[in-house]
Amino acid sequence: MSSAVVVSSENLDEKQQSVSTPVVQSVDKKVNLLGMSRPELEKFFEDLGEKKFRAGQVMKWMHQFFVTDFAEMSNISGKLREKLEKICEIKAPEVVHRNYSKDGTRKWVFRVGDGEGSLVETVLIPAEDKTGARKTLCISSQVGCALDCSFCSTGKQGFQRDLSPAEIIGQLWMANYSYMEDVPVAERERTVTNVVMMGMGEPLLNYDAVLSSMQLMLDDFAYGMSKRRVTLSTSGVVPKIDQLAQDIDVALAISLHAPNDELRNELVPINKKYPLQQLIAACQRYLAKDGNESSRRHVTIEYVMLDGVNDKPEHAQQLLKLLKNLPSKINLIPFNPFPHAPYGRSSRNRIIAFQKTLSDAGFVCTIRQTRGDDIDAACGQLVGQVADRTRRAEQWKKKVAQQQEILRTQG
Ligand code: SF4
Repeated sequence: MSSAVVVSSENLDEKQQSVSTPVVQSVDKKVNLLGMSRPELEKFFEDLGEKKFRAGQVMKWMHQFFVTDFAEMSNISGKLREKLEKICEIKAPEVVHRNYSKDGTRKWVFRVGDGEGSLVETVLIPAEDKTGARKTLCISSQVGCALDCSFCSTGKQGFQRDLSPAEIIGQLWMANYSYMEDVPVAERERTVTNVVMMGMGEPLLNYDAVLSSMQLMLDDFAYGMSKRRVTLSTSGVVPKIDQLAQDIDVALAISLHAPNDELRNELVPINKKYPLQQLIAACQRYLAKDGNESSRRHVTIEYVMLDGVNDKPEHAQQLLKLLKNLPSKINLIPFNPFPHAPYGRSSRNRIIAFQKTLSDAGFVCTIRQTRGDDIDAACGQLVGQVADRTRRAEQWKKKVAQQQEILRTQG
């Protein structure tokens, strides 16, 4: 078990607790197997003088039964289990805070890195669909983000660092484990049905780690997810969209948010480097590659609705024109204001009118339901709140230590 840093639980209710992560303790120089792809793990076992198939066995224990203790891996010889215990570990990022909303939404703040480390967040949103209960996990790929979109709380934190594959897949591991921790190992199953790489950071700017994490998501020895259920969302790093098309078959979403270059330069500054025509052409190329694959029948267009900024009838018309040759589904996202946000949320009527224009023209256009309102607001905001609380707890601990020192010297 890890010795998680426990922050103050002052003012938190039962479901909003600072918690310890149920994973093995971090020991310097141990190799973390959690983020390794199948070929990497096969090589690891071959280097140990073992058969390649051990990789698949260990992957199933890690990713399908959520076992982190080698001693529990009953189909592996005792000798090998001992060896593995000495040199490796299975370690998800440390959970420092979790919120479980009444509507089923779950949100975690993870600490990544050594010492004080950095914080990232992950959100799980449940929903019903045609195929039954869906549980969609929104995963972060970087600590902070360099792209500074003007409506984004994460962008305001600046860029700190890329997440490793273990830190990315560890978010999926932990979300699944949160439903299984009280279930006997033999009965455990994967619960998260969908993943969107749409949390903190621009996933295509941490390309290798994100690619290898998505390969694990699709791997039958790991999460075995359908490629239609793994979505990468980008703000528009055009060359990397082309590279992605070559490397993996997953669904693509674009954080578009504006229907013309002038407005998009303001809202999503990477547009100055890769303007709309280049972005739309890259999406068309993405769909054209393996065009019959179900994950590539359309691109999802994410469009945050900002009051009086991008939500006018002329914007809807411009969007229709922009997307006329791109098979797409449009997702309108009511803006979730954060402290000092320079924008407000569009009115319900404005959003419905915008949707109607697009639907009448034949587009599938949905309005994202706002979820988890009782646990916090915008993406990236919870990290700020927890960081604040952690700082307050640290300050309080220092103050107590100072007072004890004064009492000791006086006594
Ligand atoms: S919207 Fe995405 S790409 Fe833009 S600043 Fe936020 S995290 Fe980065």
